[in-house]
Amino acid sequence: MKDLESLVARTLAEVAASADLAALDAVRVAVLGKKGTVTELLKGLGKLPTAERRSAGADINRAKEKLGAAIEARRAQFESAALERELASAAIDVTLPGRGQSVGGLHPVTRTRLRIEAIFRRAGFSIAEGPEVEDDFHNFEALNIPANHPARAMHDTFYLGDGRLLRTHTSPVQIRAMKLQGVPIRVIAPGPVYRRDSDVTHSPMFHQVEGLVLDEHVSLANLKAVLAGFAEQFFEKPRGLRFRASYFPFTEPSAEVDIQCVLCDGAGCRVCKQTGWLEICGCGMVHPNVLTACGVDASRWQGYAFGMGIERLAMLRYAVTDLRLFFENDLRFLAQFSRG
Ligand SMILES: [Zn+2]
Repeated sequence: MKDLESLVARTLAEVAASADLAALDAVRVAVLGKKGTVTELLKGLGKLPTAERRSAGADINRAKEKLGAAIEARRAQFESAALERELASAAIDVTLPGRGQSVGGLHPVTRTRLRIEAIFRRAGFSIAEGPEVEDDFHNFEALNIPANHPARAMHDTFYLGDGRLLRTHTSPVQIRAMKLQGVPIRVIAPGPVYRRDSDVTHSPMFHQVEGLVLDEHVSLANLKAVLAGFAEQFFEKPRGLRFRASYFPFTEPSAEVDIQCVLCDGAGCRVCKQTGWLEICGCGMVHPNVLTACGVDASRWQGYAFGMGIERLAMLRYAVTDLRLFFENDLRFLAQFSRG
């Protein structure tokens, strides 16, 4: 019995000292396995005298149970420790800083269009829209640009196979608005237009805003006042305005409008090519032929129209020197306009 007690004590020490599940299992096999020491003791019971057999058997079985329980307890320790380790490594540290979200912004051309729309809305204009795929009548014919008119050559038009075309200016929206709403009318029509042209200051797709006012008593002076008011609000300070006589088939008389340079205030700089003036607009009194084409009585109604390039205004407002920057979608450029 002394041997049994020392075997139990030794085995319990080994169980406690086992470093992992494999070492623990080796201890179990050595003691409780088929040829383990305790198993061998039970097998040897038959050789004992009958009188001792019963109490010896009970002692060995108690030892066997005690060791079995100790081994199971140790195994449970290893398993819960492994679980703890796994939980610890997979845990989310809620105190770590978040990844953050970058907030997008409106494209500078969109931003400029919205600014233009807001200014003209305050002046009583409503917004008109028209299709980007146009027919010859709305883009040219009704605007007093018949076939073979030299002005057509200046437009570098994209023609579609079926005779339609991508509108070369927002002026066809004038025609559609006049036919749809009749007179009097006071609209602006912002939107994309298309021309076969591409360099530092030209893009095959760009944006214009068209303005049209028709009423019974509208004069060139009204046009001048509206454009002066617009320039002052858009550039946030009063601007000198200069009208130069020009030619457009759909207006008579026609003018190109310059504003005092927004960068040098007229002193002369690289952007205004030392002239102190920047061209921002083409305009004029609507040609009677255009009114007639839209079924408007030209002897009673008159008005003005103007057109501006939205990218041009955006370049001046944000001091951007290359038009192509607006269309390259370089986030380093665009992110500068996401606020303010
Ligand atoms: Zn200048």
